[in-house]
Amino acid sequence: MTITIDGPVRGLRCRSCAVLQPRDGRFVCEHCLGAVEPEYDLDGLRSRELRAEIGRGPRTLWRYAPLLPCAPPARGLDAGWTPLVPAPHLGDALGIDDLWLKDDTRNPTLSFKDRPVAVATARALELGQDTIACASTGNLAGAVAAAAARAGLRAFVFVPETTEEAKVASAAAYGATVVRVRGSYDRVNRLCGALADDLGWGFVNFTLRPYYAEGSKTLLFEIAEQLGWRLPDHVIVPVGSGALLTRTATAIRQLVATGLVPDAPCRISAAQPAGCAPVTDAVQDGWRAVRAVREPATVARSLAIGAPADGDASVAVVRASGGSAASVSDAEVTEACALLARTEGVLVEPAGGVVVATARALARRGAIPAGERVVLYLTGNGHKGFPARTLLADPIEPDADAFHSAYPGAAA
Ligand SMILES: *Cc1c(COP(=O)(O)O)cnc(C)c1O
Ligand SMILES: [Zn+2]
Repeated sequence: MTITIDGPVRGLRCRSCAVLQPRDGRFVCEHCLGAVEPEYDLDGLRSRELRAEIGRGPRTLWRYAPLLPCAPPARGLDAGWTPLVPAPHLGDALGIDDLWLKDDTRNPTLSFKDRPVAVATARALELGQDTIACASTGNLAGAVAAAAARAGLRAFVFVPETTEEAKVASAAAYGATVVRVRGSYDRVNRLCGALADDLGWGFVNFTLRPYYAEGSKTLLFEIAEQLGWRLPDHVIVPVGSGALLTRTATAIRQLVATGLVPDAPCRISAAQPAGCAPVTDAVQDGWRAVRAVREPATVARSLAIGAPADGDASVAVVRASGGSAASVSDAEVTEACALLARTEGVLVEPAGGVVVATARALARRGAIPAGERVVLYLTGNGHKGFPARTLLADPIEPDADAFHSAYPGAAA
């Protein structure tokens, strides 16, 4: 078999049987049907030239094009290059000395999903596909719909019927066909698997998954660049399918291999809600393989994936990095969202609360040593799905007495 070297990518390597295969339309191994992922030829890259090239690049994730599997498309949404900010007030509240927030709530459709979708859409265009599609827990639907609009493609997004209305409505507004399906996300995912076989569409998190997942690396690339080309000591990552967590490890490996950062340990910890915690339970209970969760039940709907595609790989990555995990309750998640908002002025959806609550749990357990530089991944914006009702008091009559009796402390 001849392997054509195509940009920085040497081919697609099977994660199960390790055979290197051509970078064509395939998305699973031709020998064992295992997952494949792009392998890069990093030998020729010199860290000084690479840093300069990245520095000259756009203020989007495409600045990392030398470490991505597709060339930037002519037109795309400007995903990435989001702020990394210190969080001293939240750090005080949690007992973490050197705490930072990667505020990925500020992407074009308000979640980090714009990153994987940017790369998957670039690949769909390379393959000449006219329709992109996805199975989504909410955020992916909006990201796919908006990316399709910008690229001039059709979009079909499949969501569980329980998905938050704000997320579904924005996908429809971007012009996607929104297909609401009875049942859990895992059922929706299976439906998409069945449809993908005959439709030939680009299902971003299925038939384009090797490319989709690579977009997730850029979050860690940015953190390292924003810290002056150094790795943080510890990152806390929310886990749905596990693509973001596993590609955080890939990103670290590539930064070290190209000399962009000094080789130093970076622990990767996993955050999941107790109502859907296949990965974090496996880490904490010492299992090697995840046990699928039949009926996820959590306020953090974007993490409600009971049978995660990169679940076992996530468990392995957390262990190998020396990271930890916590499974946090819905009450802790809601409280953590409010704590973050009032200490740092950042409003996240429940997935962000899962990460903050996990940081608190790890700090309490003594799993965050003094002086460790910790970065929290905040992946979704609270302005499209914050469970506000829990924080709101009953309405009052429009008169001053009613105000003073309902808010006796206000005039103090
Ligand atoms: C999808 C999603 C995640 C999880 O990403 P995976 O790569 O599927 O693990 C985390 N946070 C938010 C807000 C998401 O939408
Ligand atoms: Zn294989």
